[in-house]
Amino acid sequence: LRSGIRARIEARIDLDALRGNVRLLAQRANGAELMVVVKSNAYGHGLVRCARAALEAGAGWLGTAVPEEALALRRAGVGGRVLAWLWTPGGPFEEAVRARVDVSVSGFWDLAELRRAAARAGLRARVHLKADSGLGRNGCPPQEWPGLVAAALEAQSEGLIDIVGLWSHLAVADEVGHPSVAAQAAVFRDAVHHAEQAGVRPEVRHLANSSALFLAPGLPSDLIRVGIPAYGLSPSAEAGSARELGLRPVMTLAAFFSSVKRVPAGQGVGYGLEYRTQRETTLGLVPAGYFEGIPRRAAGTGAVLAAGKRRGIAGRVGMDQFVVDLSGDDASAGDEVLVFGPGDEGEPTAEELARAAGMIPYEVVAGIGAGVPRVYQ
Ligand code: PLP
Repeated sequence: LRSGIRARIEARIDLDALRGNVRLLAQRANGAELMVVVKSNAYGHGLVRCARAALEAGAGWLGTAVPEEALALRRAGVGGRVLAWLWTPGGPFEEAVRARVDVSVSGFWDLAELRRAAARAGLRARVHLKADSGLGRNGCPPQEWPGLVAAALEAQSEGLIDIVGLWSHLAVADEVGHPSVAAQAAVFRDAVHHAEQAGVRPEVRHLANSSALFLAPGLPSDLIRVGIPAYGLSPSAEAGSARELGLRPVMTLAAFFSSVKRVPAGQGVGYGLEYRTQRETTLGLVPAGYFEGIPRRAAGTGAVLAAGKRRGIAGRVGMDQFVVDLSGDDASAGDEVLVFGPGDEGEPTAEELARAAGMIPYEVVAGIGAGVPRVYQ
């Protein structure tokens, strides 16, 4: 945006809140190291700024899914340990080795590509061997684990890699006492035991994500990977609300009315005319829609804060606009509308919006469009 031109919508990112959340999570980690997961543009909050803030608050590690984001961090001069875990054949292995990005290896093709990349770079790659302990996504299945460990140890003895981590990811850590958590922990313990017997000396073994931190303490994890609570949102209803957990939401989504008008009773609003005004009222038009990440399913249930009060979303959310019924109250074009935030002024939280739209908070914040300016405060 040119200076002097105000955005029609902006995501305000409170980096102090993020730092506070990370400090709180580090305390709860109870001696374990902390990895802040900054994948998917830091869950929509802005990759580089959030990564820096997380390191400032004491996180030693950053995690991204795709390697492109890990490399973007390094290009921006971000230090700390960075792990990237979602690789595709032909991916930027050599760039990652040169940038000292830790690489997750789940199987034989990725180990082979990494060996070639390390040989070309003339550097030892830092590897975290990933076991599939039951989630059924990436990670090496138990029957192939001994072979993968042997192949990785061979690459290590050839000076191509250092096995610095052993890890896995949980499927149902958000449900207290779900039997899969203990079952996955047992598979992971076996995988670690086998690797260590074979001669692997990892710096870290990691299984726990943030749900596990809150709901299943005591897992075999000397590093905890936290994502959503760093951004001030709860990983699950069972863990408690953000407020109950002492977390502060980091993102506030603010927009500005592009018009406000009086309409009579019986006025239909939006595609499908699913909303009709009950009486004479004022309607405010918000110039943002599902392209910007406002959930279409929030129609009829969602609310925003405008002209000092919660107001219902009137009718369907369009691609680039939606309407708010102001119940006859005065407002003007240019007035601020808070779609969600920490709730300090009475605006809904991302957790409330997610509930209204049948979503999870992760989807709400990660879904805020790339074109929405992030304003750091
Ligand atoms: N670890 C891995 C491998 C992940 O993919 C994620 C995010 O989905 C996390 C940890 C963090 O999870 P959460 O956001 O629930 O804290």
